[in-house]
Amino acid sequence: MQLFKCTYCGQLLYFENDKCERCHHSLGFETERLELLPLIAEPDGRTFQLYGNDAPGSLTYTYCQNHLDAACNWLVPSASATPFCTACALNRTIPNLAEPEHKARWRRLEVAKHRLVYSLLRMGLPVVSKATDPEHGLWFDFLADNSSQGGEKVLTGHDDGLITINIAEADDIEREMARKAMAELYRTLLGHFRHEVGHYYWDRLIDETPQLAEFRQLFGDEQQDYSEALKRHYAQGPPSDWPQHFISSYASSHPWEDWAETWAHYLHIVDTLQTAHAFGLSLNPVGADTSPYLQATISEEPYEQPDFYAIMDQWLPLTFAMNSLNRSMGQPDSYPFIISPPVMEKMAFIHRVCQGAQ
Ligand SMILES: [Zn+2]
Ligand SMILES: [Zn+2]
Ligand SMILES: [Zn+2]
Repeated sequence: MQLFKCTYCGQLLYFENDKCERCHHSLGFETERLELLPLIAEPDGRTFQLYGNDAPGSLTYTYCQNHLDAACNWLVPSASATPFCTACALNRTIPNLAEPEHKARWRRLEVAKHRLVYSLLRMGLPVVSKATDPEHGLWFDFLADNSSQGGEKVLTGHDDGLITINIAEADDIEREMARKAMAELYRTLLGHFRHEVGHYYWDRLIDETPQLAEFRQLFGDEQQDYSEALKRHYAQGPPSDWPQHFISSYASSHPWEDWAETWAHYLHIVDTLQTAHAFGLSLNPVGADTSPYLQATISEEPYEQPDFYAIMDQWLPLTFAMNSLNRSMGQPDSYPFIISPPVMEKMAFIHRVCQGAQ
C-alpha cells in the first residue's frame, strides 16, 4: 500500500481515513488516480468536487453508498449508473446488517477487500463486476453460516468468478480456531481475499492462454482430479519435502491451490514492499558487513520493478527486520515462511504474467 498525504494540509493519512485529522476536510479515494483526496462539498451537501480540481464544470463525485454504513471511503462519479464504488460493486451479497455482529464482521471484510482491490487496480489487472460482465466478471458473497440451525454450511472458496467468504472468518476467535485446526502459520482476512482472487485470475490470465504451458511446467498439471487431490491431502497430509517446493503445505495439494497460495504470497510481498518504499525504509543492520545480504535500500516501488529477483533481494532483509521487531514486541513473526528457489521461480512467473496483463 502506498502512503497517502492530505493535499490540503500535508497530513499523512491511512488508506481507510474519511476525514483529515488536521484540517478536517472529508476525504475520498478516487480510483482513476488511486489517490485519497480532500473533498469540497457542493451546496447539496452530498456531492463533492476534488480539492485542487474544483474549477466550475469539473467532475463531481458522491461517496459510495456503503459510506453510510462506515464500510467504504471510496468515491463514485456523480454520473455513474451505480451508487457503489469499484470495490463495492463487486458485492453480490452482504450479510444481514440488522444483526449488530454481522455489521462489525462485514466492515472488517470490507477493509481487507478494499486493500485487495487497491492492489489489483495498482497492478493494472481487470477489475469488473459480474453485474457488468456476467461471463468474465467477479462477485463476492459474504455469507453467515447457520448450519447449526439446519441451514447450508458456508465454505470460503471460488467458483467461476464468484468468491464466497464465510463471515465467521472476520471473528478473531473463530479464525484463530480454524488456523489451529488446519495447522496453518497464517490465517488473515486479507490472505483469504488474496488466495481466492488468485483462483479467479488463474481463469483470466492462465487458462486457455499461451501461459498455460509454462504454468504446467512450474506448478504441475492442473487436469488431475481436484476433489481427489484434496481428499488425499486431508487424509495423508503433504509430502515430507513440501517446504522445498511449495510456499505452504496446502499448496502441495493441487496445482490450482499452489497457484492461489503462491499468488497470495506474491501480493503480500509486493504490497508490503510498496509500504516499506513509501516510508523510505532502508536496512543496514549492525555487523551487516559479514552478511551483506541482509542490507537493502527499497529504492523503487515493486510495481515498477520488472525483475522479480530484485524484489526478492529486498524482501528477505525486510522480513528479517520485521520478524525481529515483532519478536521484540512479543508477537509472532510477521512473515514466518521460507521461500525456496522453486517457489521464487513460480512467483517470478506470476510477476511476469501480471506485468504482461497491464
Ligand atoms: Zn488535511
Ligand atoms: Zn464502496
Ligand atoms: Zn483455494
